[in-house]
Amino acid sequence: MNEHAPKKLFIKTYGCQMNVYDSDRMADALAPHGYEPVQAAEDADLVVLNTCHIREKASEKVFSEIGRLRELRDERRLAGGDLMIGVAGCVAQAEGDEIVRRAPAVNLVFGPQSYHRLPELLARAHNGARVVDTDFPEEDKFEHLPAAKKEVTARRGLTAFLTVQEGCDKFCSFCVVPYTRGAETSRPLEQVLREAENLAEAGVRELTLLGQNVNAWHGLDARGRSVGLGELCYRLSLIPGIARIRYTTSHPLDMTDELIEMHRDLDALMPYLHLPIQSGSDAILKSMNRRHTVAEYMAVIERIKAARPDMAMSGDFIVGFPGETDADFDATMQVVREVGYASAYTFKYSIRPGTPGATMDGQVPEAKKAERLARLNEQINTQMHAFHRSVVGRTLPVLIEKAGRQPGQVGGRSPYLQAVHMQGPTRLIGQIVPVEIIEARNNSLTGKIVTDAEPNPASVIESRATAAHI
Ligand code: SAM
Ligand code: SF4
Repeated sequence: MNEHAPKKLFIKTYGCQMNVYDSDRMADALAPHGYEPVQAAEDADLVVLNTCHIREKASEKVFSEIGRLRELRDERRLAGGDLMIGVAGCVAQAEGDEIVRRAPAVNLVFGPQSYHRLPELLARAHNGARVVDTDFPEEDKFEHLPAAKKEVTARRGLTAFLTVQEGCDKFCSFCVVPYTRGAETSRPLEQVLREAENLAEAGVRELTLLGQNVNAWHGLDARGRSVGLGELCYRLSLIPGIARIRYTTSHPLDMTDELIEMHRDLDALMPYLHLPIQSGSDAILKSMNRRHTVAEYMAVIERIKAARPDMAMSGDFIVGFPGETDADFDATMQVVREVGYASAYTFKYSIRPGTPGATMDGQVPEAKKAERLARLNEQINTQMHAFHRSVVGRTLPVLIEKAGRQPGQVGGRSPYLQAVHMQGPTRLIGQIVPVEIIEARNNSLTGKIVTDAEPNPASVIESRATAAHI
């Protein structure tokens, strides 16, 4: 293959938002080498599967996708062409050798810490080698990953993910993340600010900061003073253009006073917080190695609600962890009602080989897990609809993100991450306008634009600079 001819890249992303961010960064790393993104494997010269290992079925899906790609490659070869196949992400990290053994069609396998080396790995694969790179290298990949071109960022939309923290040292007994993503690390403050400035210059208005434990993020400022996520949000809010900041996923033990106070003082921090508890039973939390009790979690929620009474809460729950009794599950349902979650991600416990949970006694039968999951989902759905209905009649600031499906319609998000549809001109895309909410549907709201004038950005930044007292 000619090294300099334009080549087509298709990245299929599985799993969490961090993988979505990583896929974009892989595309950015390959862009200077002539790779242009396409929307389907059928149109690509290189297909990368950016995988997730969090649950069992996820890795099985990857192996069946590799089978499909092998057929595509064989057809290409019959017609005189070819297809390169790469596997990235957490399945690659955890099962690199297994992939090489089970899937000879795969040309390269690389883990989440190797994305900056992708052009070099690909060159080796083009020379006929089967490449596996699942090391945790010393160098900082973020220093070596090129920034996206302005027009590429602009095409990706007004809202952007920005990974600020990776890895985890908490070792919950069900979870593979500490093994696949490695030890907890925070990106340096200045590096994050630089990336955010580039995003803002390309038109991004809303940042979602990402990390496995994003609220454990910490860094040093220019004076060598240690700062936490709250101050990072404050610094980001002063970047012209940045109107809204969110962050996910947080651990209850890392919810510092500084961060909670920032929710009170900083208008750019959105009142929607994803704070998983996993189970409402102290006995299960203990055997999950969560290191906090239900009461401690509820105390954190109380501090958050005191700072920001309208905070909408979201969470993660695992049902059917080994040893979970009916009473333990009832305790989870009780927490769900008490916290009043506006949304949640719910999972059946899935054995992850190599984690302590995998060999625990008292594994719960699948049928029991399914029954509990259905009850939990029903409760969460009821609460989600009630939350949507509770904003009907209110006027909310909505970030207009895109044209709607119907002509003359636009779509955006409320501060509480609700999708809002309304009549309006596309010239409003990128603005935050007051919208009266007139109807709650199952998964979205319908609204009416009150006025289409956004407050002057310079005065917003000036008021933020004084409000947060830093
Ligand atoms: N760091 C976050 C935290 O502490 O809550 C979560 C990160 S994890 C990538 C996302 C979610 O996947 C977890 O919160 C948990 O609910 C779910 N999860 C992780 N391992 C699981 C397993 N073995 N079975 C089922 N769900 C699991
Ligand atoms: Fe996994 Fe989150 Fe627990 Fe870390 S804190 S081990 S990422 S569930």
